[in-house]
This record gives sequence, C-alpha cells and structure tokens, in this order.
Amino acid sequence: MALRTIRIQGDDLLGKRSREISEINERILTLLDDMAETMYKAEGVGLAAPQVGVLRRCVVIDVGEGLIKLINPVIVESSEETETRLEGCLSVPDYVGWVKRPCKIKVEALNEKGEKVTIEAEGLYKKALCHEIDHLDGVIFPDIAEKLMTQEEYEELLEKNSQNNQEEDDED
Ligand code: ZN
Repeated sequence: MALRTIRIQGDDLLGKRSREISEINERILTLLDDMAETMYKAEGVGLAAPQVGVLRRCVVIDVGEGLIKLINPVIVESSEETETRLEGCLSVPDYVGWVKRPCKIKVEALNEKGEKVTIEAEGLYKKALCHEIDHLDGVIFPDIAEKLMTQEEYEELLEKNSQNNQEEDDED
C-alpha cells in the first residue's frame, strides 16, 4: 500500500469523466488499497479515483461503519424528496458548500471480488456516495453547490453555533 497525492481544485483531471473498469486486476486492487490509505491519512470519509489522478470508476468510503470499496457504482434510484446538507472535499480544501441531494438513493456496483452489490443509503452514507460518484463524472461540489463558504467563514459559523449546537464537519 502507498499514499497517493490528492489532486486539488484547478487540476484539469478533476473535471474529466472516468472510464468504466472492465477487469478487476491487481492494478485496480492496489489502487483501491492506496485510495483507502490516502483517505484515512487525510481523515476523509470518501475518495474517488480521479482525486488521486486515475480516471477509472471506483471509490472508497468509510462513514464510520467500515471501509467500502465500490467499482463502477451507479445510482439507479433517487428519492424525489431532497435535502440540502453541508459538504466538504479533500480536493477542495478552501471551501465548504450547501448541496441539494436526494434524501435516499439506491446504488448498484461491483465489490472487489467482482460481485454485484446493491446499497440503499440515506444520511451521511448517501451524501458520501452521491459526492464520490459525482467525482467519477468530473463534478466537484462547488460546481453544484447552492452556496459556498470559505473554511474561515465556516469556522466562524461553527464558533457562533457551538454554544447551542453540535455540528459535524465531513470531508469527502
Ligand atoms: Zn470530493
């Protein structure tokens, strides 16, 4: 396993569409291991292959319920009901933003063994899945956010709210 360099907003590669993975070989398995290591080191909850410079459709996610590695993930169902939540991104270190997403989604993908998996998700897990799958289509959250805040503005807001609220900062 090895750490990989995370691409930062402004890098052309983050705006490109990733290709489907047709064969799960050693190279892909190593990529997924490296992505997981890189995500944990950066204290993120998700990472998509283009974020480490590889335009292939795979993501890793860990929202506190264990590591998930997905190959060729596709959102096959989305609830009509939506919610707007705060998102951050390891590739966008300077901003957080409010992004509208479906409340619930259903995702189909392959696991590392090439088996088909179906995931129904809501909450943080859903948010991470939507966010990482967006990366595979060359979309980062500032492209679709309803409102952006600098990290500084966000920290001020958190400070203001800290007396009566407990908020969590999730970096995908
Ligand atoms: Zn991201």
